[in-house]
Amino acid sequence: MERVDCVVIGAGVVGLACARALALAGREVIVLEAAGSIGTETSSRNSEVIHAGIYYPPGSAKAELCVEGKSLLYRYCEEHGVAHRRCGKLIVATCAAQTATLHKILAQAAANGVHDLRLLTMDEAKAMEPQLRCVAALLSPSTGIIDSHGLMLAYQGEAEDRGAMLALQSPVTGGAVEAGGIMLEVGGAEAMRIFARTVVNSAGLMAQRIAAALRGFPPDKVPPCYYAKGNYYSLAARSPFTHLIYPVPEAAGLGVHLTLDLAGQARFGPDVEWIAEIDYDVDLRRADGFYRAIRDYWPGLKDGQLAPGYAGIRPKLGGPGQPASDFLIQGADEHGVAGLVNLFGIESPGLTASLALANQVAQIANLA
Ligand SMILES: Cc1cc2nc3c(=O)[nH]c(=O)nc-3n(C[C@H](O)[C@H](O)[C@H](O)COP(=O)(O)OP(=O)(O)OC[C@H]3O[C@@H](n4cnc5c(N)ncnc54)[C@H](O)[C@@H]3O)c2cc1C
Repeated sequence: MERVDCVVIGAGVVGLACARALALAGREVIVLEAAGSIGTETSSRNSEVIHAGIYYPPGSAKAELCVEGKSLLYRYCEEHGVAHRRCGKLIVATCAAQTATLHKILAQAAANGVHDLRLLTMDEAKAMEPQLRCVAALLSPSTGIIDSHGLMLAYQGEAEDRGAMLALQSPVTGGAVEAGGIMLEVGGAEAMRIFARTVVNSAGLMAQRIAAALRGFPPDKVPPCYYAKGNYYSLAARSPFTHLIYPVPEAAGLGVHLTLDLAGQARFGPDVEWIAEIDYDVDLRRADGFYRAIRDYWPGLKDGQLAPGYAGIRPKLGGPGQPASDFLIQGADEHGVAGLVNLFGIESPGLTASLALANQVAQIANLA
């Protein structure tokens, strides 16, 4: 049986950030990834937005790690040449009743330490984005966009420079809690077993299944997992907007918003569709709902301008109708298994928070 110091399960943006942080702390690291390349699941199926940290409940892990992660991420991008743009976003009220919500968002952002939001009148907002329909808006200047694949390559490169190894097509299929560490069973072309002193379970949508498959791990510490798919439609025309445009948030999501990629291409979404199994097909029947939602803030959208894009899946800890859940970073203090850190429910803003999340994981792992 192979023996290593640390194994990170999953080479998404969070797993790679953890591998980097552990390698920089001088630990020997192997990343086990089921797929044939890095970042093929949620990390390449998102909005690529660097979130400001506005909406999350004050004191939550999401709020704290997003705000800290945003600063770390901007600095990291500048230092490592990762493509990004601080384009800013507008949160728009389309009727008088929604302006009260803008004030609530402003207060919540301030409670989270985000103090740069600015309330705009209709005229001020329309001066910035002439095609926008709104009665008022909030400008978030520190919201931006990022090349998420470039970021993952930068994390991978730094981790490998410090000796970390990436094993692709190496799915973890089970394992057991043993004295002094964790034994992992790995499938793939050559099935093997690996014993590690520290294991970071960063398998995203599969994190619960992996924890449940570890013999000796307390089953009551595996939280439920619900899949909330988000469909995207892209705009088959040049974007008339230069800022990201968000309606006021709705239950389980942020509403059908407009984001831009670094080439200026606009896409709309993600919506919220609860599903039982992983399925990335974009449901064409949802187009009507997209047209309706978008025309609320952009009446100029013409028929036929939306094309099905892609979909991503949020690994949520709460199901339909339940309150929004937080990230769950579970170390030995919570589950009693020395050397194991589970990352559950790492939905948005996991990309923004990746460096801050990884610092926390490395701290827990280095205490083990
Ligand atoms: C629709 C949507 C939009 C989002 N938009 C944003 C945004 O704009 N900004 C933001 O900050 N965040 C956003 N997020 C959140 C962000 O994308 C995620 O938090 C982040 O990508 C999670 O990364 P991860 O590494 O935890 O998971 P993943 O990227 O899913 O990586 C997990 C990896 O584990 C691997 N794996 C699974 N099972 C096994 C196994 N048995 N053995 C080995 N490997 C395994 C998978 O193949 C995968 O590569 C969004 C999420 C969604 C769904």
